[in-house]
Amino acid sequence: MIQIDAFLTDLQNYQEVQWRNPNFGIEKPAVFTLADMEDAAARLERFAPYIAQVFPETQATNGIIESELKEVPKMLAALKDSDDFNFEGKLYLKCDSHLPISGSIKARGGIYEVLKLAETIALDTGMLQLTDNYEKLADQAFLELFSQYEIAVGSTGNLGLSIGIMGAKLGFRTTVHMSEDAKQWKKDLLRERGVTVVEHPGDFSQAVAAGRKTAEGNPNCHFVDDEASRDLFLGYSVAALRLQQQLIHQGITISKEQPLVVYLPCGVGGSPGGVAFGLHQLFGEAVTIIFVEPTHAPCMLLGLYTQLNDQIAVSDIGLDGKTAADGLAVGRPSRLVGEVIEPFLYGETTVADQRLYHYLRLLKDQEDIFVEPSSTAGFASFSDVNRTFAQENPQLRKGTHIVWGTGGNMVPEAERVAAYQLGK
Ligand SMILES: *Cc1c(COP(=O)(O)O)cnc(C)c1O
Repeated sequence: MIQIDAFLTDLQNYQEVQWRNPNFGIEKPAVFTLADMEDAAARLERFAPYIAQVFPETQATNGIIESELKEVPKMLAALKDSDDFNFEGKLYLKCDSHLPISGSIKARGGIYEVLKLAETIALDTGMLQLTDNYEKLADQAFLELFSQYEIAVGSTGNLGLSIGIMGAKLGFRTTVHMSEDAKQWKKDLLRERGVTVVEHPGDFSQAVAAGRKTAEGNPNCHFVDDEASRDLFLGYSVAALRLQQQLIHQGITISKEQPLVVYLPCGVGGSPGGVAFGLHQLFGEAVTIIFVEPTHAPCMLLGLYTQLNDQIAVSDIGLDGKTAADGLAVGRPSRLVGEVIEPFLYGETTVADQRLYHYLRLLKDQEDIFVEPSSTAGFASFSDVNRTFAQENPQLRKGTHIVWGTGGNMVPEAERVAAYQLGK
């Protein structure tokens, strides 16, 4: 049993909190290196000709799956107006909400893991060489090869979309295990693409467990383990290399005086962890990383605060884990990520669901951009950081602040309208 102190009492009462990480700056042995990230980036380059061929929407970027970095000055003005704080820097949205192929940040890690699996199999058979043009992976011979293999994943939705769409395209037999509360349109879309969708009662962790179980004992089945996958993590980390280039192209310099501050919505922790790791590798002390989680499912925060990492779940302190923020409704953090990010995670904030809808509406009205509720968590965090951490650290009012948009582009119109209405 853990001691319930004042902070945990706030968490138990679904209060919004702002938490400074006391272990920030204390180095730990490296689990991943810059070379790992560069290896992942090179793999995505090798696949680019294939991606451009089979997903025509990526032709404009030559098969590189990337999103825009967009300044959102009107949103900034509206936020200052709504939440009342001082801020001297610039605010940007990283539009992973609009990533091609699967419309969420999972198009980085999820697609990367499937591509890596395909490459490993194809190289092993000798049908592919590293120096080949990977366009040949679209040939019938490869569809037949991959159809002898299975991919399974447990997902609340967006990871399932990425794995399912990419897996099915390559010819893998793909099964997505979903929790019952996953959105119907996501299940329908996957089934349309030839993916098997299995629904499980209970939450995300149970869907993952069920997926893992069915994959066990089948050597031809690859299980994508959102709670511990190195490949997912490295796929996400490549975002940092791409962002570095985007900053250069937009003439934005990053330094300790003009810092980069990044707000990352956190579910199990893989996507924010991978991106944060990459940014820390590239920008060191000039980047400040903030995670944000819903008040109903602050699993990473709970794991870090208690130092129990994945050995504690939000249900252990009585939280229900229920939130409208798809992708953030996670009760237990990754086994892998907490320890990796602890040395460079500046802090975390939590956010109540109703604020997510408020910012969703604001972003649509001000910038004409639709994102799903989980994607607006970063705006809440940005505002909270300015009102709290920036009091003691005025540097945080300056520089380039990036709210990481994580999903939204695939959301059907009727759902968009409903979400927008909730922001009133
Ligand atoms: C998955 C997801 C996240 C969080 O990613 P994790 O790797 O689970 O931490 C955030 N937003 C959206 C829309 C997601 O689908």
